[in-house]
Amino acid sequence: MSQALSEFDLIARYFDVPALKGSEDNPFISLSIGDDCALLQPTPHHQLAVSVDTLVSGIHFPVNVPPKLLAWRSLAVSVSDLAAMGATPKGFTLALTLPEANSDWLASFASGLAEAAQHYGVVLFGGDTTKGPLAISVQVFGEVPSGLALRRDGANIGDAVFVSGELGGAHVALDYLADEANQDPLVDQLLQAYYKPDAAIALGQALRGVASAAVDISDGLLADLGHIASRSGLSITVHSHLIPVHPAVTALCNKDRALEAATKGGDDYQLAFCVPESKIPDLLALPFNLTRIGTCKSGAGVLLDDQHILSGGFQHFEV
Ligand code: ADP
Ligand code: MG
Repeated sequence: MSQALSEFDLIARYFDVPALKGSEDNPFISLSIGDDCALLQPTPHHQLAVSVDTLVSGIHFPVNVPPKLLAWRSLAVSVSDLAAMGATPKGFTLALTLPEANSDWLASFASGLAEAAQHYGVVLFGGDTTKGPLAISVQVFGEVPSGLALRRDGANIGDAVFVSGELGGAHVALDYLADEANQDPLVDQLLQAYYKPDAAIALGQALRGVASAAVDISDGLLADLGHIASRSGLSITVHSHLIPVHPAVTALCNKDRALEAATKGGDDYQLAFCVPESKIPDLLALPFNLTRIGTCKSGAGVLLDDQHILSGGFQHFEV
């Protein structure tokens, strides 16, 4: 049932709540929701890592997406940027643009958000609420010991290139988002990969001092490796037969489509990263599902099986 709520009632009822704000004695947050600004107190000798992502209805998610899953995904995609930097997630702000204050929608959204916040160990400490076409901006804050962040510009020629998890699932899920009646468990796995991407927080932190560069895969493996290649001033060669493809993608798609989803499809939120040969034993001792897919070389750009890939991945303003 839709019901009129003032902006302040709405914030008090759904967002300024213990399930999202966490405990009052959080040392990172000196002042939470309710003032003009929140006040943060990072741990000494740490750097603050900050990132924001916006999801717009009809562009980043289908119009009628279940609000609980939308909340989960909104937080996960932002937290994934902290993972890619090796940062420890601490908290977030939420800028919510809503066409109407529907209490069922808000209750479901807030409960999904609280679930995801608990999963990632973050608390909500501020935001903004406005009326307009549905859009969700989540700004995340984390911290990382000074100098240990995993940047895109640290890769060196000769470094091995690894990827976490399995790729392509979230991209192929796009084909099934509107197909609510589909009961196939393989499709369900894909939808999970899309709605609840598992931001690789623990892996990111374990890669501090091990990886030379890292990125999370939001726009597609090759496009995102392209960011490391250009920021580090080298080329990256990837071998297609080494790329770990999501098993449901392998089962549901032909070989070409599966490879395309795993290399060019976005939204997987796994990590791609570079590691010097000398650190590979340390890396392989870590308890994560990791696959070596390529190598950093001299030159520029990304090569897939020796073919130069010029573009790929999702670009909002591509013409
Ligand atoms: P201001 O007008 O000074 O920017 P607002 O009236 O927009 O402040 O917000 C009041 C308080 O509620 C602020 O502390 C703000 O951070 C918080 N807030 C607003 N919207 C949200 C939201 N969607 N989630 C969490 N906190 C929010
Ligand atoms: Mg103000």
